[in-house]
Amino acid sequence: MRCPRAARPGVLSWRNTTPLMPGGRALILGSGSGSRTASVNSHRIGSLRRRRCFTWRAQVSNPWSMADLIYVPVALASVLTRIGNAARAAGRRPEDVALVAVSKTHGPEAVAAALAAGQMVFGENRLQEAAGKFPALLAQYPAARLHLIGGLQTNKAKEAVRLCHMIETLDRPRLADAIANAALGFGTCPDLLVQVNIGDEPQKSGVALADADGFIRDMKARFGASVTGLMCIPPADEDPVPYFKRLAAMADAHGLAVRSMGMSGDFEAAIACGATHVRVGSAIFGARE
Ligand SMILES: *Cc1c(COP(=O)(O)O)cnc(C)c1O
Repeated sequence: MRCPRAARPGVLSWRNTTPLMPGGRALILGSGSGSRTASVNSHRIGSLRRRRCFTWRAQVSNPWSMADLIYVPVALASVLTRIGNAARAAGRRPEDVALVAVSKTHGPEAVAAALAAGQMVFGENRLQEAAGKFPALLAQYPAARLHLIGGLQTNKAKEAVRLCHMIETLDRPRLADAIANAALGFGTCPDLLVQVNIGDEPQKSGVALADADGFIRDMKARFGASVTGLMCIPPADEDPVPYFKRLAAMADAHGLAVRSMGMSGDFEAAIACGATHVRVGSAIFGARE
């Protein structure tokens, strides 16, 4: 996989600024940022041999991506190791923390690489994108599970109920109405998490803190055991720990087992605070645009 840069100067474009591994890959393990999207280039060396080289580009979804086949399993294994270590450090069992691999903006080939490596739970934040990507993958891997982790419009509730195994973003009564209607029509209801606007940020979705207890009670009364827990996204650029603790306490108070909290940059802290589901994207699939 080494790129013979000197052999044909000018053929390869090296546009990334992240440090490269010897093989020409930027490997971002143990941190949540960086860039990894690559395309695979075949080109002639002399007149006899062809070799493949990785060139670095801005985010491009490759229809056929050797980069995903190589990078995703390695990054996935690293994240799973970190989850296990964080769980044990907190006196918890690794198997009690589920990894939701957030594949938004990444193509089906990246998801396929994770599936082939044994990852079965995925998160998408836009229903339309998920609807384009997942039906074929779910048909191929019946054990795979799709979580909707982004805001849901009421007019898309039907499609979300049909496609998703868990909706993590239940946050208002009208959406509850739409999900309930869709679930009645469809005959089964996905698992539901109430998203709490844990930092009470005006621009963020999630039920406001002042309304959270009442809303959670209402949703439990309405959906019963389909409401399995709570989800939050703490304010950016702040210590997330107090927010994680607050969500865990709220879940405890309502007897809810699932706490979906923690992303690439802070999932270990979330596990220390009792996360049962961590939603990790860039540490597995690479940076997004
Ligand atoms: C994108 C996203 C994530 C994953 O973020 P990373 O920092 O890439 O791990 C987690 N949760 C939600 C709701 C997201 O939209």
